Amino acid sequence: MTKSLKDCTTLYNGVKMPWLGLGVYKAEQGQEVVKSVKSALSNGYRSIDTAAFYENEEGVGRAIKESDVDREELFITTKVWNLDQGYDSTIAAFELSMRKLGLDYLDLYLIHWPIDGKYKETWKAFEKLYNDGRVRAIGVSNFNINHLEDLIADSEITPMVNQIEYHPCLIQSELHEYCKRQSIQLEAWAPLMRGELLDNQTLSEIGIKYNKSITQVILRWDIQNEVVTIPKSTKEHRIIENANIFDFELTQEDMKKINSLNENRGIAVDLNNL
Ligand code: NDP
Repeated sequence: MTKSLKDCTTLYNGVKMPWLGLGVYKAEQGQEVVKSVKSALSNGYRSIDTAAFYENEEGVGRAIKESDVDREELFITTKVWNLDQGYDSTIAAFELSMRKLGLDYLDLYLIHWPIDGKYKETWKAFEKLYNDGRVRAIGVSNFNINHLEDLIADSEITPMVNQIEYHPCLIQSELHEYCKRQSIQLEAWAPLMRGELLDNQTLSEIGIKYNKSITQVILRWDIQNEVVTIPKSTKEHRIIENANIFDFELTQEDMKKINSLNENRGIAVDLNNL
């Protein structure tokens, strides 16, 4: 059983990645993002998920510098934005992100979205950054099975992570199974469906049984499904609440009940309309 906020999954290259991290999409550059990251770090989080697109990498970097956590304990993820895809532009975008973050190496770099005609060149730049030791792990985001098959067929290095929209309404089981077979770690974005799931009756009933909130039930379900999760909050009491999931275990029956909420529907992904 995963017992602590410091517990990690081991990526196929041996790098350890915490099961739970803080997402910072829509945490505003400046005081808001600095405060969120600092409060996450002081409450035991070690993993932060940002992106060039979020325009808050400087704030993430400032919070890291002002906190007293050793760099080796941290796991920092950022992503290359769509407009920067391509070989040279990815290398340049990486250097800019690193300057903003104030880091000399990154833990995980992700291709934010699979831009047709671009992602393979972008991946070549990722392989170079990885082989040069600038980043400890490389991965993708929002890639479906076709994108992954296409990329893997043409690459030296298989992505270590795929970060996708994943929550009880959108389980993406085929993609999950495919990633497992390829040893690609799945990571959930919008694990709380941006709040849409927080009045769900089934989740509420399950929460009452364990004396846990709906968010805690969902995040625990992620981890028991072996999915890394990165809920976003800018409020300290929620940052603490979201991490308080390591002292209980959902039964197989409750896991199944949560799986049965799947509607193949999410914020950005609708598998019903493919
Ligand atoms: P989430 O599902 O994490 O939901 C965040 C929302 O839930 C916020 O409005 C937050 O409000 C609220 N919330 C958080 N905790 C609680 C709680 N305990 N009780 C009640 N409400 C709560 O959505 P995100 O889209 O932010 O996804 C998480 C992260 O995933 C992002 O921050 C980002 O890092 C990443 N992401 C990646 C994408 C990609 O394409 N790769 C796309 C989208 C997100 P408040 O802040 O006010 O507490």
